[in-house]
Amino acid sequence: MSRLSFWGWGREGAGPDDAARERLAKSLGERFGRPDLRAAPLPRLEEITLRAPRIAPPSALAAIASSDPWERARHTYGRSYRDAVRAQRRDFAHPPDWVAFPRGEAEVAAVLEHCTRERIAVIPFGGGSSVVGGVEANVVGDYRGVVTLDLSRMARVLELDRSSRAARIEAGVLGPALEDQLRPHGLTLRHFPQSFEFSSLGGWIATRSGGHFATRYTHIDDFVEALRVLTPTGVIATRRLPGSGAGPSPDRAFIGSEGALGVITEAWMRLQDRPTRRANASVRFPGYDAGVSAVRALSQSGIEQATVRRLDPGEAATSAGGSGREAILVLGFESADHDLDAWMRRAAELCRDHGGAVPDDALRTRDDAAASREGSAGTWRNSFIGAPYVRDALVSIGVLAETFETAITWDRFERLHGRLIAEVGEALRRVYGAGSITCRFTHVYPDGPAPYYSLLAPARRGSELEQWDEVKRVASDVLAEEGATITHHHAVGRDHRPWYDRQRPEGFARALRAAKAELDPAWVLNPGVLFDRAAARSEP
Ligand SMILES: Cc1cc2nc3c(=O)[nH]c(=O)nc-3n(C[C@H](O)[C@H](O)[C@H](O)COP(=O)(O)OP(=O)(O)OC[C@H]3O[C@@H](n4cnc5c(N)ncnc54)[C@H](O)[C@@H]3O)c2cc1C
Repeated sequence: MSRLSFWGWGREGAGPDDAARERLAKSLGERFGRPDLRAAPLPRLEEITLRAPRIAPPSALAAIASSDPWERARHTYGRSYRDAVRAQRRDFAHPPDWVAFPRGEAEVAAVLEHCTRERIAVIPFGGGSSVVGGVEANVVGDYRGVVTLDLSRMARVLELDRSSRAARIEAGVLGPALEDQLRPHGLTLRHFPQSFEFSSLGGWIATRSGGHFATRYTHIDDFVEALRVLTPTGVIATRRLPGSGAGPSPDRAFIGSEGALGVITEAWMRLQDRPTRRANASVRFPGYDAGVSAVRALSQSGIEQATVRRLDPGEAATSAGGSGREAILVLGFESADHDLDAWMRRAAELCRDHGGAVPDDALRTRDDAAASREGSAGTWRNSFIGAPYVRDALVSIGVLAETFETAITWDRFERLHGRLIAEVGEALRRVYGAGSITCRFTHVYPDGPAPYYSLLAPARRGSELEQWDEVKRVASDVLAEEGATITHHHAVGRDHRPWYDRQRPEGFARALRAAKAELDPAWVLNPGVLFDRAAARSEP
């Protein structure tokens, strides 16, 4: 297996090759009337100039520290469009000074102690797949340097409680290694964000990630039974309980804390039996806005779907083999315990009531994983897994490829969606001269959907960041004005701060800052994400 890419998604060399990138440039050049789109060469480490480290690891930490250029470059950015553009420009102006790879909690504590004493910023790092500037090593403040704390060597399932169906797991484990350790026990965490392959348990908890299952158990929040968090002022370990009414939840205080309040070192996670039966269908709805009412009916029906993912006609055409004139609803049920025919029959009725065309062969339970790999569902699944590599290829040919996501209650969805399509579409035309915006629901709840928007536009080389910032501002302002959330599952990081600052109640901001001052008095943990030391709000 090749090593991880220091500048882009996944493993070195795993994305589209040069010929494929040229083909992409040609077809998008024709589509956008931009024959000048060309595939630029991809970055090589020899081309990258890193500033000399400002600080060196102390000898006591030498065994777990690295100042290797490849490691420093790999830990400079997360994996957003802004990150991809800067990395492909060979701009690694703010790498961490060194990277720590603790093998256990005592070494995490030693790093925190050293950094607190020496006034060095510490950035907890799981898989580094943040898309909101959450692991960016460019830290503002009077810090002597920046250390990235990479938890990848803490990756074991430590203990399993079969009767409660839970496991104690180290936070640095990446998705596939976690599932490999649970599989022999017939268990699964069943949390599959699109970044599953290269993101970690600790990162999921710290960012409140959402899995690709659209309903029921999807947010990592619901799987956390107990946490162990190391802060500069000590360990906080919560009690394992199936539920509790004892005051505000200490787990919830750290779920979503984005590395600013402490380092999550391990967690007891609720598990599930591995599903053995599946039923899937791709339901077609004619028309641009069709299918939304069916999704609402499904989400409020009380039947629990594993997947209910509505793709608008644009999304359906690019990722699920749609015609471009119809919306597609990818519908899936899973169980380790019972047949699903009754569930699927009722879902099919609801879809038909709302104008959907349901294929007859959808209405039977299958007992093999292949069921989710066929038809539109399968096409969509393959495109979903390969998309991050294609995104990097698009950046290399000078094309904006980015997403934004939100959630809103059903009563306000139509107005929000209408404004986003109109105003972001207009901004794309104004800023880029051309472009497209498409929408799918990544998650749905009885009281509202989480729509996810994908943007594609031909960028101007050298102005990519300014162009994207302008369009992102339009989108984020609309979300703020309509009372939607600035993020449903991508987290706040540094990039969403101006809008998060407006969304978060001021009294709560004060409480967070007070908690930070108590747990991290030297303010060294991931400064700049979620909140600042001063009360001033950041401006967009
Ligand atoms: C292609 C792609 C697809 C994605 N798909 C999804 C998706 O489907 N659903 C979704 O929710 N998100 C998605 N994301 C966003 C990202 O993968 C998630 O935010 C993920 O949870 C981050 O995990 P990570 O281990 O990579 O964390 P990192 O990027 O390493 O860190 C993210 C944040 O968490 C903090 N952190 C990390 N580990 C710890 C720890 N142990 N203790 C304390 N703080 C910690 C970091 O300091 C940082 O603030 C996607 C990103 C990409 C690039």
